[in-house]
Amino acid sequence: MPELPEVETVKRGLAPTFEGALITKVDQNRPDLRFQFPVDFANRLTGRRLTVLSRRSKYLLGDIDSGDVLVMHLGMSGSFRIENDLADATPGSFVHARSKDPKHDHVVFHLESADGARARIVYNDPRRFGFMDLIARPALAEHPFFRDLGLEPLGNDLGGETLARLFNGRKTPLKAALLNQKLIAGLGNIYVCEALWRTGLSPERAAGTLVTRTGRPTKKAEELAANIRATLEDAIRAGGSSLRDHTQADGTLGYFQHSFAVYDREGESCRTPGCTGTVARLVQSNRSTFHCPACQT
Ligand SMILES: [Zn+2]
Repeated sequence: MPELPEVETVKRGLAPTFEGALITKVDQNRPDLRFQFPVDFANRLTGRRLTVLSRRSKYLLGDIDSGDVLVMHLGMSGSFRIENDLADATPGSFVHARSKDPKHDHVVFHLESADGARARIVYNDPRRFGFMDLIARPALAEHPFFRDLGLEPLGNDLGGETLARLFNGRKTPLKAALLNQKLIAGLGNIYVCEALWRTGLSPERAAGTLVTRTGRPTKKAEELAANIRATLEDAIRAGGSSLRDHTQADGTLGYFQHSFAVYDREGESCRTPGCTGTVARLVQSNRSTFHCPACQT
């Protein structure tokens, strides 16, 4: 499943084509993906302009000049392809290669930019766990998709103080607390493993141990907040470079997993300088946790 950095990379890749464009036509090739499309989906977009493309957690949000927001989720296997006269590109960096089989092209947005350039943004999704919806902008924050979401880990809100407030008194394992979408939205398994490893923190310690008795963040809490942001930003940068590479390549984007320091490296040597430990895997909340028992305490 694409994680937040992939979705952010997709957003940055689509924005130059999508933002400000007039939607001249929408091909909706089936009645549903994971969910039914909203009533009149294509009609409600046709002849409208997408003003701003943003992201909340793993949702892409396209503000439409009608007041609707086009909500798009990639699910497990969804991807967007930009087609224009110059080149085709699939923005985003994914552990698994994206499909280019046209039989899985479910939605095509036909676009015309302010300067008259034409492009198509094609949504492809072999497994169809992705979905799209149209939600009125004022109703968005209270919509079931969004109302329980915690703060954005990439925003300026995430610091040691925030972690101390979120984790104060919590006895749940640190990894479970970081994956709790009601606390921090969009932080996924891979990047939690990576950030905990960078910080030298055990995924099994209680989340509340990052908070002092007076409710202040510990030094490790400050480091963890910084490492969460740095881990995500590094991944986004890697995705950005793959976007450039991809316009000249064959569509294989599988190399990105090799840049993980601890995730999926069970039995291999820990990469922390000076550490002689071996990466181990354990299962927490039905998810694999990769960590180094020697330097993560
Ligand atoms: Zn280690």
